[in-house]
Amino acid sequence: MASESDKSKEIDLPLTQQSTIPKKFNFLKDKVALVKLNDYEPENIKKALEKIVELLGLKDFFKDKSILLKPNLLAPTKNAFTPAEYVSEVGKLLKNELGAKRITIGDSTLTKKFTGMTIKRTNMAEICQEDVFNFFESEREIINVKNPEFEAQENIALPKQVVEADIIVNLPKLKTHKGFVYTGAIKNFFGLLGNKMHMHMTHKEKAKFQQMLADIYFAVEETNKTDKPKVLTIMDCVLTMSGNGPRAGKIREMGLLVAGFNSAAVDIVGYTLMNGKPKDLEAIKSIARRTNLPVDISQLDLVGENYKDYIIKDFKKPNVATLNDSPGGSGLYSKVRTKAMSISIKINNKKCILCESCAKHCPAQAMTKKGKVIVIDRNKCIECFCCGESCPNDAISTKWWIFRNAWWIFTLLGVVVIGAIMGIWALISALLGS
Ligand code: SF4
Ligand code: SF4
Repeated sequence: MASESDKSKEIDLPLTQQSTIPKKFNFLKDKVALVKLNDYEPENIKKALEKIVELLGLKDFFKDKSILLKPNLLAPTKNAFTPAEYVSEVGKLLKNELGAKRITIGDSTLTKKFTGMTIKRTNMAEICQEDVFNFFESEREIINVKNPEFEAQENIALPKQVVEADIIVNLPKLKTHKGFVYTGAIKNFFGLLGNKMHMHMTHKEKAKFQQMLADIYFAVEETNKTDKPKVLTIMDCVLTMSGNGPRAGKIREMGLLVAGFNSAAVDIVGYTLMNGKPKDLEAIKSIARRTNLPVDISQLDLVGENYKDYIIKDFKKPNVATLNDSPGGSGLYSKVRTKAMSISIKINNKKCILCESCAKHCPAQAMTKKGKVIVIDRNKCIECFCCGESCPNDAISTKWWIFRNAWWIFTLLGVVVIGAIMGIWALISALLGS
């Protein structure tokens, strides 16, 4: 498949900068700060950020450093992106009070055009008054980072801006995701790559895709020029998204910022706050396998607010537990359900305005407009939910699909019926013989 990064200049990271993952991650503490923030008023954001600086000891961390802020600019839909006011306050604090040398902002969404539109409509550059990179820009340079310990692929291609920055401040938003259950700190690294459609096709299995997300995180840390962490995550959990995320879900107020150097530890907290079990998420498990991170919130070094006060017990998570090899539940019920049923993409024709945005952003080219409806080729669909991310009218969701794995059900039924016939036959034989 042709990609938008084909024209990019590629170079390999010099081997001297590379080291083994466990060694690089020894400095990553599992400390996570939870700080109350009820709204996006600049004064309140500033106070909350100052509290994080105090709790994590960041006073001198940013001094004379060039910082890349990485918000989630998924789409210009309310509550689907990290608010510009929040990103702006982070930038101001780093530059005006903590001595950062340079602030830039960067992200990429589904395609170059879609990213440009999102950057424009979120007013990110105007509100923040900083340079905003679209990582799809065709003249960008790509740095290949290789490490034998990457799980999903041999090398990760990072934009030059990511490699050159001294520190990446990861600014995700806590949301559900119809393709991957959850999106937070680790999933936000996917926006650092330009060539996303290709990556979806390369890693069709959900587990492999999540391992690739973990590889991106490790790759970013591999480009570190110092012995301190390169990534600091400050996750926006003020207004979160439940249900049909990451674009069309319902707003749930949580009133919190969650921050830490270990992005997987931040996600352990984030998914727990959604009342989920972090051990069900493959990206977290992939990082834990390669570091000493405990996938257990009770073993993390938490500071600030008590996380138990912020768990939303009825947080509605999407029904994606049985997508292809997805991070499903770990219980017996989930395992049986995974075998028996699947999830399928569903289009609400009443809501669909036939804009064809979904078809343009479908990596598998599984969608076509036929007459007055969009038709999905189920054999081509890889259930990535890029179509749902690109739909401007909340017309795409998922549904249970029992017939995909019908062979499993019919085989079971067949065994039961044959067993019953044999039992009855044996019983009749025994009665006639006695
Ligand atoms: S139809 Fe939707 S879920 Fe299926 S491959 Fe295309 S974009 Fe992905
Ligand atoms: S993106 Fe949404 S509204 Fe547009 S054609 Fe697809 S389903 Fe319809």
